Amino acid sequence: MIDIKIIAERDRSTVLHPFTQLKEFATGKIGDPTIFVGGKGIRVEDAQGRSYIDGFAGLYCVNIGYGRTEVAEAIARQAYQLAYYHTYAAHTTEELATLSERLVRMAPGKPSKVFFGLSGSDANETQAKLVWYYNNLCGQPKKKKIISRERGYHGCSVISGSMTGMSFYHDHMDLPFPGILHTGTPHHYWGAESGETEESFSRRRAGELEELILREGPETIAAFIAEPVLGTGGITPPPTGYWREIQTVLKRYDVLLIADEVICGFGRTGANFGCTLYGIEPDLVTVAKGLTSGYVPLSGAIVGERVYAVMEEAADRVGAFSHGYTYSGHPIAAAAANAVLDIVEKERLSDRARIVGSHFQKRLKERFAQTEIVGEVRGVGLLGAIEFVADRQTKRRFDPQLKVGARISKAARDRGLIARAMPHGDILGFAPPLVVSEAEIDEIVDLAYRATRQVM
Ligand code: PLP
Repeated sequence: MIDIKIIAERDRSTVLHPFTQLKEFATGKIGDPTIFVGGKGIRVEDAQGRSYIDGFAGLYCVNIGYGRTEVAEAIARQAYQLAYYHTYAAHTTEELATLSERLVRMAPGKPSKVFFGLSGSDANETQAKLVWYYNNLCGQPKKKKIISRERGYHGCSVISGSMTGMSFYHDHMDLPFPGILHTGTPHHYWGAESGETEESFSRRRAGELEELILREGPETIAAFIAEPVLGTGGITPPPTGYWREIQTVLKRYDVLLIADEVICGFGRTGANFGCTLYGIEPDLVTVAKGLTSGYVPLSGAIVGERVYAVMEEAADRVGAFSHGYTYSGHPIAAAAANAVLDIVEKERLSDRARIVGSHFQKRLKERFAQTEIVGEVRGVGLLGAIEFVADRQTKRRFDPQLKVGARISKAARDRGLIARAMPHGDILGFAPPLVVSEAEIDEIVDLAYRATRQVM
């Protein structure tokens, strides 16, 4: 038996928790940390024996569900055989080479090589360096600026945190870094003018992107980074026509496209990749989360043929590609990823996310679309969100002090459902493991509905 009080106190006095109000945590105002001790399928259990449905798959990552012994065994096998060797210069392991070939075979665009990292943030940091490196090698040293979107989320390191388009991730941290720009978010509900269709709203957003490129000078714009479905900024699928319009603009000005598939990749949207679903042809692709289902950290910056060809061609002139981490391509992480992808393929989790996901979207809409305080219900596959407003007619938001989203999330949790209060606005987000059943979806929607009614 673990001593809950001792662990809570150790934690409170020594762990610097991400995204936490430090004073409220230090003084106990937001209670003791919940100590998680176990997980099976879509459920996790805390040290007090309470069981929760994890309606957010950790942080949108545990796609295959908890407690998969196949993955634990693959990790243990590799740890016994060879826990570590690096991948600098010409070193590799069987698991890594197998994984890399697999990713190049399955990734969208025209993939050529994979650079392995440990998190979505560092993979996007790598993408920025690749874009700068590529343009230097192409003799275009001025072409360096990267455009992302307001409310996009790409991580929280220096460059990835700058790409993230929410100011509270920048405040007091001296971000954004110069040369990282933001353009309008493609959220029809909030952004459209009265009577504007999704198609024309998408054209307007693409027009704004073009204006930004022209204002800055196309010769200075290197890349555009975006999530196929905007995630942490509110779980917002793109409006009709958005990706077609955006790609037309990018091609016109020779701007590279980085698809951040950290959430969407490996089935979340009901397709293998968000790019497949929306007809996106990226030059570079970022993957993490679902790649190992969160069992161990691993990410990939997948480099398309166009960029890689220039890098190889220039190598005699510029020398080694001088970028890498001690743990790039860690063999245990590679073994875990191979075991996870075996499950994703064998259990056809993308198809499952499409089928169970359509039930999920239908049930969310049936339950919430007419609720007085619900402005919009949206999602795709097994990603979903409910946005709460004080007045449905005028779309007036709740006073942020009321913390409506956070209170509903808390009420859901008290009932045994983890659904995330998204950091931007009063939004309850869902991203259950892809192994969730239709009956479990009904349970999730029902618990969320009862939590909402409790707070209303
Ligand atoms: N990109 C996207 C789309 C994400 O959702 C996240 C994390 O939520 C990241 C990048 C950053 O990943 P990490 O937290 O592993 O650094």
